[in-house]
Amino acid sequence: MPISISLKTGSRVDMVDITSLVQKEVSKAGAEEGMCFVYVPHTTAGVTINEGADPAVCEDIIAKLKELVPPNAGYRHMEGNADSHIKASLIGNSVSVIVEKGRLVLGTWQKIFFCEFDGPRSRRVYVNLVK
Ligand code: ZN
Repeated sequence: MPISISLKTGSRVDMVDITSLVQKEVSKAGAEEGMCFVYVPHTTAGVTINEGADPAVCEDIIAKLKELVPPNAGYRHMEGNADSHIKASLIGNSVSVIVEKGRLVLGTWQKIFFCEFDGPRSRRVYVNLVK
């Protein structure tokens, strides 16, 4: 069974830094070396790794995605959230991070972000540790 992390997003579109939540699970599992696979089991949310130091980076990503995929552009999907599905596919729903000496190996400025595109909602992230 994969490890499951629950989170609540605060707005329709949001990038939530989940790095410490993922690191906590790696530490709890006692994983020393291997790969940490982070997977989002939703069709209107995703996960990405990008800069966490300057919040303007996430704001720019969100703004550019909105420009590329506007909310109402004559989509065929009846539910009214076609833009959310498209953004989720552009971002992707998994990332892999190397684990060394029990720590996620990330660059100085890198953070793992849960990307909400149809919130606010209760969401889940799966973490699987591979030796
Ligand atoms: Zn939909």
